[in-house]
Amino acid sequence: MPDQLHWLLEELLHLDAEQLNRRRRCIRAEQDGWCSIDGQRLRNFASNDYLNLAHDDRLIEAACQAAKESGVGARASALVCGRTNWHSKLEKELADFEGQEAALLFPSGFAANTGTIPTLVNEQDVIFSDRLNHASLIDGCRLSKAQIRIYRHDRIDELERQMQDSGSFRRRLIVTDSVFSMDGDLAPLEEIAWLGKKYDAAILIDEAHGTGVFGRKGRGVAEHLGVESEIDIRIGTLSKSLGSLGGFVTGSRKLIEWLWNRARSQIFSTALPAAACAAASRALEIIASEPDRRKRLLEMSDRFRRELAEVGLATPEKSVGPIVPLILHDPSKAVRAAEELESRGFLVGAIRPPTVPVGTSRLRIALSCAHTDEDLRRLLAALVDVFDQDK
Ligand SMILES: *Cc1c(COP(=O)(O)O)cnc(C)c1O
Repeated sequence: MPDQLHWLLEELLHLDAEQLNRRRRCIRAEQDGWCSIDGQRLRNFASNDYLNLAHDDRLIEAACQAAKESGVGARASALVCGRTNWHSKLEKELADFEGQEAALLFPSGFAANTGTIPTLVNEQDVIFSDRLNHASLIDGCRLSKAQIRIYRHDRIDELERQMQDSGSFRRRLIVTDSVFSMDGDLAPLEEIAWLGKKYDAAILIDEAHGTGVFGRKGRGVAEHLGVESEIDIRIGTLSKSLGSLGGFVTGSRKLIEWLWNRARSQIFSTALPAAACAAASRALEIIASEPDRRKRLLEMSDRFRRELAEVGLATPEKSVGPIVPLILHDPSKAVRAAEELESRGFLVGAIRPPTVPVGTSRLRIALSCAHTDEDLRRLLAALVDVFDQDK
């Protein structure tokens, strides 16, 4: 019988040759930013657990309690019989946390994006989408079948020109990450809010990396930039700063009611485990009661960027906060640097196409509250060592 998938071997060899094949490894996650791989202990600078909550005893306790009471799996979609008190409590808390009327949980942040956008626009409409948006926003835009206009947030006048020409569409929707996940810079939400108003467009933002990190109360970049009242749809994840799993949308009551009735990734997928909801609820309490976590994280990020610049390792100009990229351009350079760092005890992600545009492969250092000043000093020394050797 001919092998219908024989072409896969060639494709995989091609990935190998380009240094684009991705390894699958087993990580043993431990408390306080430690992990081990094949028995080697590493300081973890690759995780999204910004507030060091994924392994917090209080979240573990909350999750265990909920699992004991409600079981492990949710048994069905929220619509059928998967929605428990933990889900309803968390949705109320998320709405309160973001100062919105209502919230809806999704199986993941990815599912929140792909599920929400197609309920808001279709063939008659146009979406303005940042070229560096997360894959799940891009897929959500594609699923909607709306016309898509790509803009760059470093050239916001480009967005305005595109919006000027959009009068013939029924609806306009601007879609953007609030923190760009690979560059660590922020969306110019003030300008976007102004353009939205001027050209009659709704605004959807994805705060996956903003929640818990930016803003006085940790509500994200919209809070930080003072534009919360101008954002129509706020999407977030429970899986980064909140240390759990799941996605959510907050906004007006009518928006949430509509999503509950129409968002396919929510309706046709099993509800989150109660344990994930209980842990996220506990994380929200900690975000409110322990603001020093995010304060220290941002201070540490600023200081680390300055120290990198002092040794000649520049991060992209506008990047701020815990995502610290070092652009190395070539994928094999990024992979080699990550391996060198690993041999010195640091786990740092090497990010290559298609996750980032061709020619912009990079190390992506992710800081967290788990890290100490000593960790940063040692990482900086290791980076200097690795890049000196490379010259
Ligand atoms: C991680 C991420 C998501 C997906 O969230 P999950 O809960 O992990 O599915 C969506 N958008 C952005 C910008 C992200 O970084």
